Amino acid sequence: MTDRDIDTLRLAAIINSSDDAIVSKDLNGIVTSWNTAAETMFGYTADEIVGKSIRTIIPQDRQGEEDEVLRRIRLGQSVNHFETVRQRKDGSLVPISLSVSPIRDRTGKVIGISKIARDITDRKRAEAQTERAYEQMQMASRLKDEFLATLSHELRTPLNAVLGYARMLRSGAVSLDRVPQALEVIERNATSLTQIVEDVLDVSRIVSGKVRLDVQTVDLPTVLSHSVETVKHAADAKQIKLHCVIDPVGPVSGDPDRLQQVIWNLLSNAVKFTPKGGRIQVRLERVHSHVEVVVSDTGSGITPDFLPYIFERFRQAEGGTTRRHGGLGLGLAIARHIVEMHGGTIHAASDGEGSGSTFRVKLPLLIVHAQQHPEPHRVHPRSVRAGEPIPILALRGVSVLVVDDDVDALLMLREILESAGAVVQTVGSAPQALEKLAIERPDVLVSDLGMPGMDGFELIDRIRQSPDQVVRDIPAAALTAYARSEDRSK
Ligand code: ADP
Repeated sequence: MTDRDIDTLRLAAIINSSDDAIVSKDLNGIVTSWNTAAETMFGYTADEIVGKSIRTIIPQDRQGEEDEVLRRIRLGQSVNHFETVRQRKDGSLVPISLSVSPIRDRTGKVIGISKIARDITDRKRAEAQTERAYEQMQMASRLKDEFLATLSHELRTPLNAVLGYARMLRSGAVSLDRVPQALEVIERNATSLTQIVEDVLDVSRIVSGKVRLDVQTVDLPTVLSHSVETVKHAADAKQIKLHCVIDPVGPVSGDPDRLQQVIWNLLSNAVKFTPKGGRIQVRLERVHSHVEVVVSDTGSGITPDFLPYIFERFRQAEGGTTRRHGGLGLGLAIARHIVEMHGGTIHAASDGEGSGSTFRVKLPLLIVHAQQHPEPHRVHPRSVRAGEPIPILALRGVSVLVVDDDVDALLMLREILESAGAVVQTVGSAPQALEKLAIERPDVLVSDLGMPGMDGFELIDRIRQSPDQVVRDIPAAALTAYARSEDRSK
């Protein structure tokens, strides 16, 4: 074997061990060599393709590319990292990055063409994934922007009513006989503000995985009737017929307030999206080992393109300033989360615009085991109806020390506690409370948590470390606007 033969073999070995397809062809595009990677990449063996045109692997709509490549090579130019697509023997397409250069003889004359093709399927897939992720991120960010606009709008309406009436009352613009109505408006609007804040907090609890269920035995017919009761007024106002079919089903275990929240949400959506004179049906039945709550309406229905997104937060079929219905687009996302926490499913169906909608909640008959330390009972803001007297236990003769840095809050607490018969003392800070405790022994302490200087947590710590046994044992209750669950447990 000559040195030249050995060089040729070495070169062939290198070419055949490459992951890139390395191919040569003549100036008419006829394949003259075809390495192992080319066999794998395009599915043709060297025997099958050598002697045939390279156009065999070029898809119909890209044949023009070969003309351009040949033209440039004849001019002595190369083509580098050209991204294109080729067709395998089985007809499938493979994305490649192509470099083509002229092969010259000793005199520099172009006598052939070499092509190196790299399979870029993985890179293209990664690029597509990145693009999808970017689009999703942009969508999420757009939805959040829209949500903020919706939120401020939804907050402003009840706030204006509360502020407006409060100012009117103060300036004497409301005649005495109209005061109860004015107060009712204030209460109703403040309740809907509470509802908005609750929903936003719920979503943030869901995002941070902090929703807890206060699990107990639940009688669903009762939960259902309560929910129906809370929307009845709104349905009557729109002359919507509310029809209930409640089968006796066995008890389920779950969080009654949360389940009521779910059903209330479905019902209030049904009322909201059903025009005057429509019908809503609520059905509770047992199907095999689970119970089903079905809320169906004859309302606006849901278009097929919106249906898949209906349980995503911030999603609303109508957006912008022209929308006819209020709402934050959070209710169904919260509902789904709660139902899934109960081991159930929630499903929406509609035959399209104008054809009404049906929401179906399935709950297993026996769900989760009760928590050892259930959270305090959470009263859904809408479950306390405006105008109902809030039951207060008689506190006759009980002495209470109230600590809060907010003068209005102090005033309100004094009002409430005294109306229940308590003897109330108020102070505006934690140090003042400690001073008071050095000389007096109230039966109970009620303290705000967030206060400048020394907060409520530190105040309680100090009291619990007091050298005086009586002070140490004073029962204390915290009062706070910090509604996060970690504050609650603290
Ligand atoms: P909100 O009612 O505050 O907008 P939801 O999460 O409860 O938020 O509902 C999201 C969206 O789903 C609504 O804005 C509405 O477009 C659609 N939707 C919900 N319930 C119904 C229904 N019963 N009929 C028609 N559309 C509905």
